[in-house]
Amino acid sequence: MFFETMNIEAEKIGVSLSKEQINLFETLYHDILQANEKFNLTAIKAQEEFILKHYIDSLAGLRFLSGGDSVIDVGCGAGFPSFPLAIAKNDIKITALDSTSKKIAFLNEEAKKLNLKNLIGVAARAEDAGKGAMRESFDAAISRAVAPLPILLELLAPFVKSGGKILAYKTDESELEGAADKLKELSIKLTCTERFNMPYGKRAILIFEKEGALLEKYPRQYGQIKKKPLWEIKERT
Ligand code: SAM
Repeated sequence: MFFETMNIEAEKIGVSLSKEQINLFETLYHDILQANEKFNLTAIKAQEEFILKHYIDSLAGLRFLSGGDSVIDVGCGAGFPSFPLAIAKNDIKITALDSTSKKIAFLNEEAKKLNLKNLIGVAARAEDAGKGAMRESFDAAISRAVAPLPILLELLAPFVKSGGKILAYKTDESELEGAADKLKELSIKLTCTERFNMPYGKRAILIFEKEGALLEKYPRQYGQIKKKPLWEIKERT
């Protein structure tokens, strides 16, 4: 049942997985549920829902990454989209970053168990790490379910090299309203939005390109970013 669902649903979004890769996905599913008994990693437990909402959803971004890319996943939580991408494509190198050390300890232990040499977890806050050695050092920064776009882009832009990209997993483009001049301020531009009709609803991946070095003042302290996001998102009715 796990094999069939994973295989069929991945094919639907253009991802072919080997039996060995699907076995890794299944082991990871059981290990996350087991760890979930000790500390909160996911609210989704039913197998099919887990496959669709965590695995297939994460894999939607795979087609935008190229072999050899170094990628940072900001706010990875239990490892999404990091784990699915690292399992599906072993020639990308993923750094999974989260401020919760327990989640990162789980991710590192599990990556070792699954022998995923292309995935490493780092416990840090994005706004701190984006000022340090990881600044402007990645080909791509990705993130799912972490913050509204004006906050998220300020956290992601510092990590990306000039010419690199940002993949923001969102429902649609609505959070871009009012962003026009602000993207320039972060030295990024929107290149395209890819929309997916997933079985559970809409998924859009907004893809931005980094056009040059980021002003040193970014990222600001988190309190400032939250209090004064680069643009206001209008309340949806
Ligand atoms: N990306 C995962 C997913 O899609 O399942 C986890 C999403 S969870 C709702 C948000 C995660 O972002 C949490 O694990 C939280 O610790 C992390 N996070 C939020 N703000 C952060 C920051 N400024 N720096 C690092 N991690 C952050």
